[in-house]
Amino acid sequence: MGGQAKDDGNAAPWAVPWSTRWGGCVVKIAIVGGGIGGMTLALALADAGLRDVDVYESASVIRELGVGINVPPHGVRELAELGLLDALLAEGIPTADETYYSKHGQRIWHEPLGLAAGYRWPQISIHRGRLLGILHRAVIDALSPDRVQTSHHVAGVGQDGRGPWCELVDRTSGAPLGRVGADLVVGVRRAFYPDEGPPLWNGRTLFRGVTVGAPFLGGRSFANIGHSSLRLVVYPISRSHEDRGDALIYWVGHVATDDGRPMPPQEWTYAARLEDVLGPFASFRFDFLDVPALIKGAEVVYQYPMVDRDPLPTWDFGRITLLGDAAHPMYPMGANGASQAILDARVLARELALQPSIEAAVTAYDGQRRPATSTVGGSDGLPESRRGARTGRVHQSRERGEPTGVRGDRDRL
Ligand SMILES: Cc1cc2nc3c(=O)[nH]c(=O)nc-3n(C[C@H](O)[C@H](O)[C@H](O)COP(=O)(O)OP(=O)(O)OC[C@H]3O[C@@H](n4cnc5c(N)ncnc54)[C@H](O)[C@@H]3O)c2cc1C
Repeated sequence: MGGQAKDDGNAAPWAVPWSTRWGGCVVKIAIVGGGIGGMTLALALADAGLRDVDVYESASVIRELGVGINVPPHGVRELAELGLLDALLAEGIPTADETYYSKHGQRIWHEPLGLAAGYRWPQISIHRGRLLGILHRAVIDALSPDRVQTSHHVAGVGQDGRGPWCELVDRTSGAPLGRVGADLVVGVRRAFYPDEGPPLWNGRTLFRGVTVGAPFLGGRSFANIGHSSLRLVVYPISRSHEDRGDALIYWVGHVATDDGRPMPPQEWTYAARLEDVLGPFASFRFDFLDVPALIKGAEVVYQYPMVDRDPLPTWDFGRITLLGDAAHPMYPMGANGASQAILDARVLARELALQPSIEAAVTAYDGQRRPATSTVGGSDGLPESRRGARTGRVHQSRERGEPTGVRGDRDRL
């Protein structure tokens, strides 16, 4: 562990008293990747009183990239505990309901979501970049701007007698930046599973875009139209557009595209050809939504293969562990990509605050989150050949209950 700690006068009253834990030592934590999971972890650690935290991010700047993302109540409750509910509601839409339609536009199923369904926290639909921006600003406020180090690509992780380390490379110049030691490193799956090969593609491609348009259905609705091999998911994601009387509409088309074609590149910013998505959805013109017009209205359409990996046997490598997509890449369906990463972050921070050692915290985290995430995913997108390996998978995890992070446990600290 690093040098001696002194109590931080700014620490919240429930924070971990450093001077009484782990012999009064500062715990130095290196997080690989400043995405949704990495930023939430940095914030959750600061919230738990662990402030010697560095986030190493490959990208040269933290850009607000992506399109739409959904954070269900169990993810929102964790972010609310970290003080972000007002910021989320100022940017995103508290989604009110979800409706399923056939490819002919016939209504099949309708149910309330979030607060309307009786949860204590809303379900929030938001631009992924805006969510990242909210988290990034909160991390800077809680730690400091230089704790998020961009252009710092982690080329490898390992551990020796002194503890774990990260090997850093300048992503822009390619220059080596050397090795940094820490007490805990979070990230880099390949170091432990080097022979995994490419991710598993289910033969479907996701075409994604955002379009400014008129509010549809109730104005805060989440709609699923079509069936498992040709489906459009669509929902509004911007509060400021709603306030102006229009809607920033996120849409994602799921299209079966494996007819002899290779898997599309696994890059979130890879642009698609408009005709590849317009063709399959040409007949999706309904009284509540004109899908071809929606697609044509997007400035750019991205494509991404629907990939995941089977659950790992362990995330517990002593003082190195995994989180978010590095630990459990899953189909971006069922609103779980972001929320499961958020839950990972909160549980890891909580266990670090409560357990007697880093190793015990990593073991406790692995014991809770690995079994939980291995049952979550879009089972209807899973190829037949892999269904047996995933018995018990649920499409969407809609956990109720108390927050899993530190504040919910403050009375026990
Ligand atoms: C640019 C981008 C756009 C996305 N857009 C959407 C979207 O529109 N809708 C959606 O549902 N999901 C989107 N996702 C995925 C979504 O954010 C994640 O599935 C989910 O939030 C889980 O979070 P995560 O932190 O595990 O992964 P991510 O949010 O993907 O973050 C991982 C971060 O780690 C960085 N990184 C990776 N390897 C290294 C390394 N070796 N060294 C240093 N840094 C590294 C990446 O640059 C990235 O910033 C997007 C991801 C990215 C990177």
